[in-house]
Amino acid sequence: MKVINPRTGEADYEVAPLGAAAVQAEAKRLRAAQPAWAALAPEERSAILHLWAEAVVAHRQPLLEALTLDTGRRRISEIEVDGLPGTIRRWADLAPRLIAQHSRDNQPSAHPTVRNSTRLVPYPLFGAIAPWNFPIVLSTIDAIPALAAGCAALVKPSEVTPRFIAPLMETVAKVPELAAMLSFIEGDAATGQALVEAVDYVCFTGSVATGRKVGEAAARAFIPANLELGGKDPMIVLASADPVQAANLALRASIVATGQACQSIERIYVARTIYRPFLDALVEAAQKVRLNYPDIAMGDIGPFIFGPQGAKVQAQIDEAVAMGAKVLTGGSVETLGGGQYLRPTVIADATADMGVVRDETFGPVLPVIAFDDVEDAIQQANDSVYGLSAAVIAATAEEAESVAVRLEAGAVSINDGSMTSMVWDAENSSFKLSGMGPSRMGESGLLRFFRLQALIRQTGAPLPLAAYAEDAPR
Ligand code: NAD
Repeated sequence: MKVINPRTGEADYEVAPLGAAAVQAEAKRLRAAQPAWAALAPEERSAILHLWAEAVVAHRQPLLEALTLDTGRRRISEIEVDGLPGTIRRWADLAPRLIAQHSRDNQPSAHPTVRNSTRLVPYPLFGAIAPWNFPIVLSTIDAIPALAAGCAALVKPSEVTPRFIAPLMETVAKVPELAAMLSFIEGDAATGQALVEAVDYVCFTGSVATGRKVGEAAARAFIPANLELGGKDPMIVLASADPVQAANLALRASIVATGQACQSIERIYVARTIYRPFLDALVEAAQKVRLNYPDIAMGDIGPFIFGPQGAKVQAQIDEAVAMGAKVLTGGSVETLGGGQYLRPTVIADATADMGVVRDETFGPVLPVIAFDDVEDAIQQANDSVYGLSAAVIAATAEEAESVAVRLEAGAVSINDGSMTSMVWDAENSSFKLSGMGPSRMGESGLLRFFRLQALIRQTGAPLPLAAYAEDAPR
């Protein structure tokens, strides 16, 4: 299977997607080793995870080079690669404490002669299916706590960005105890389907359309599916906000990673009293944004990672214009050196029936809509099939929060935007079509990988059958 380079448009890499039989074989290998991993003390697993973090640090350069080729961007690749050891260490350090806190030994019960223990029993084999937009972060974000919990882990990154898999597997190979327990495999949709059938718990990150298929397959396989899907995140800018500051943070929250982030701000509702200065500041700031072309070491935003994404975003912009919206800056996908780029695109006079306001864009596009009444802004923000995250900007956090609590979204940034990409300790659910299942952030990020087993100890005389006899003394 050929892989396209996002900066050149050329097919310069190949993968051999694992077929169903190979996925089953890999699952069997991991399953066979998992009981020994689960039997280790949490501290022993943590020590092994720390060795993996060291191996990642030692292999920084090949990982970085591969991820840069995968994504066509350098700075965010550095953030992904350099962030990985920290994520591994964080879970390695947290897991023993959380496991101890949530396990119960020999507790009294409502029955005087009965004592209870609660054991945390990890799912044997965890599986992950990841998208292309943050290849390393989203291939490891769930697998690391799953490993710390005592699961084995089988991970299928996206076929669009597979170059990092080989160097990442080299880091895994440096730690033999981990290599028995963790595998990143090359593969496409069919490989993902086979993975769902091979594991005991699946975390899927990707589009709603594929998430539905994974959810249905998981239901048939009778395993939990933790789905992290798309979004159409709104930002509400209240009349008390500083319009220039709000415009600058809206721009960052919308266009970082070329808008290819689930938690990007994709529609902005601005109080009409500050609409004009907000829009002027947004256009001015947007026009200063530089493409990372021709020099990857310069500029602010890179190419579309997945080629067809450029045409999809362009079609949304064109439809909005045909329906009466105005492009104030940007607006045309450019092909430069074989890569596809889009400068930040600010759209005024957008309406709720346009795809650019209704559907996920996954590009650096900012439709801005004025509102007169906060109630109307809340209603418009909630008028979506998505409920991933949102943002509210106001003069005070209290005022912003009074609006935030009324938004149908799993995480709301207050006086900032897209904070879920940076803040990993705040538990949040994905509302509506944006997902299903427990939070991957915060403590539940680990605890979701356990089933609870109660050991119910009788210390007195067990009840005789006679206790249930119809004529037993009452
Ligand atoms: P996608 O749904 O096309 O693919 C995701 C993964 O699913 C890939 O690895 C793909 O090979 C695999 N796949 C495809 N069909 C499958 C099937 N039938 N069974 C099993 N696996 C299958 O998503 P994408 O285009 O790679 O990523 C972009 C999407 O991901 C956007 O919608 C974005 O919002 C979403 N996303 C969500 C989050 C989040 O945390 N909520 C984070 C990042 C991206």
